[in-house]
Amino acid sequence: MNIDIELAEGLKTPLYWYDLSLLEATLSEIKRCVAGKPVKVHYAVKANCNPKVMEVIASAGLGADCVSGREITAAIKAGFEPSSICYAGVGKTDRELIGGMKAGIAYFNVESLEELEVLNELAGEYGYQARVCLRVNPNIDAHTHHYITTGLEENKFGIHLSMLDRAIDYTLQSPHLTLEGLHFHIGSQITTMEPFAFLCRKVNGLIDQYEAKGVEFKIINVGGGLGIDYEDPDGHPIPDFQGYFDTLLTNLKLRPGQELHCELGRAIVGQCGSLVSKVTYVKKGVDRQFIILDAGMNDLMRPALYGAHHKIENLTAPEGEEIETYDVVGPICESSDTFGKGERLPKTRRGDLIALRSAGAYGESMASTYNIRTLPESVVR
Ligand SMILES: *Cc1c(COP(=O)(O)O)cnc(C)c1O
Repeated sequence: MNIDIELAEGLKTPLYWYDLSLLEATLSEIKRCVAGKPVKVHYAVKANCNPKVMEVIASAGLGADCVSGREITAAIKAGFEPSSICYAGVGKTDRELIGGMKAGIAYFNVESLEELEVLNELAGEYGYQARVCLRVNPNIDAHTHHYITTGLEENKFGIHLSMLDRAIDYTLQSPHLTLEGLHFHIGSQITTMEPFAFLCRKVNGLIDQYEAKGVEFKIINVGGGLGIDYEDPDGHPIPDFQGYFDTLLTNLKLRPGQELHCELGRAIVGQCGSLVSKVTYVKKGVDRQFIILDAGMNDLMRPALYGAHHKIENLTAPEGEEIETYDVVGPICESSDTFGKGERLPKTRRGDLIALRSAGAYGESMASTYNIRTLPESVVR
């Protein structure tokens, strides 16, 4: 990705820098892979809800996957067609359900029998017909696929397989609900294709099983989760979309007229953003030295929240500078406010600009004002 260092030096930091040409190249690659295929890609808005970023994605013709009423409002404002918005979440409130119906969204990814009942009731009361995909918890074995975190039996997401019959019957019998299909989402930052192939085989089993009972699904939504290369963002700026869509389309036995939907977040926006920060101090300790940034865990929460690591670069150190070892930390009063330990970086000085790479997804959208700090600025160029 490209950062105009001269321009960045004149701006207030910390600052999310988004590389528009990389975002556009990423979107073109997705469009190339799905051209002529029965595939609809929804952008998972929670990954990055910067209005300019969302506008670029909306104008590429993608749909949106939202997880709150306010995300639906923001998506429509950014230019996404309401008829290409789907809405998931275990705790949709009455207000959010009514708002979604009123906005005319494509469908709700319903996560429980209880939600189905409330949605049917509200749709009747307000005179809507609500379109529904049932979010299935596919119970994928954590021991085979330890990286999968949301498709497991124990968690709060989706409808347990043993309750799916009841949910389907209830939807088909409800006067104000229309069954559109099934929805799955097995986890995030998945960097091999095998879990997706495994999911496809599970989905095929369900399609067959319900077809035998006369139930047809117009939409098969496999969720998101395609990962990015955090350690080598320049080597892999665009994820392997070809491999991803090939895996889905060769493994899924889609019926004629059936549509494949997916909901990619991180894979679309992750690599196009960096958090640019200024070095406030280089602090010499007894046996280590610290680079203290003006960016903290409130600006980029992933390291503190998930133990994630973002590649760290000194943007302003002169060429050929000696390499030294640093712990790179923020100013917040928490020891988890650490971006890297034992980082090998060119000799760094107060005032240098540091980039935390691959911060386009779950970076700005998760920022908070902890310690009464201001929210980070952003630039899209
Ligand atoms: C978060 C989320 C996504 C996007 O996940 P990524 O790993 O960013 O692709 C898709 N669908 C649902 C339901 C989600 O909650």
